[in-house]
Amino acid sequence: MTSHEQSLQYLQSLGYRLTPQRLLVLEIVAEGGSHMGVDEVYRQARAAYPYMDLATVYRTLRLFKQVGVVTEVAIGNRLHYELTDPGEKHHHMVCRDCHRAFNLSPHYLEEFRDTLIKEFGFAPDLEHFTVSGDCVDCRAGAAPAAGSTINNADNWENAES
Ligand SMILES: [Zn+2]
Ligand SMILES: [Zn+2]
Repeated sequence: MTSHEQSLQYLQSLGYRLTPQRLLVLEIVAEGGSHMGVDEVYRQARAAYPYMDLATVYRTLRLFKQVGVVTEVAIGNRLHYELTDPGEKHHHMVCRDCHRAFNLSPHYLEEFRDTLIKEFGFAPDLEHFTVSGDCVDCRAGAAPAAGSTINNADNWENAES
């Protein structure tokens, strides 16, 4: 069973009706792989179902996020969505130049969590932990076409606005 099917069953088990809109949005996010922007979900949804409006896409994604079947990732100042894989949670590294998101396995943060608890008695909530920085391509000056302008270290503060 795929996590897409599991998500559908989970929604049903919570009593949510699997309306055509919900089925479509979930399918798009599931098939889109990772980190889909709202505009991309909307574009694909409209192509398949011309009566779909943006408000419905937003509302549906918000519902999915609320019940946990999708995960929201902020990339730059835009929100992206991916199917939640409960067996394999991950954090994100977001490049401030090309705005791509890379998955980061939680084990990298275990030591960090232990240190905070040990040193400060502070139990961090790392559920939505995201690291911002420069990806390997951008650091090499070979930013992919998907991104914004050419790597410009002096200008990175403006990249998010
Ligand atoms: Zn990059
Ligand atoms: Zn991800």
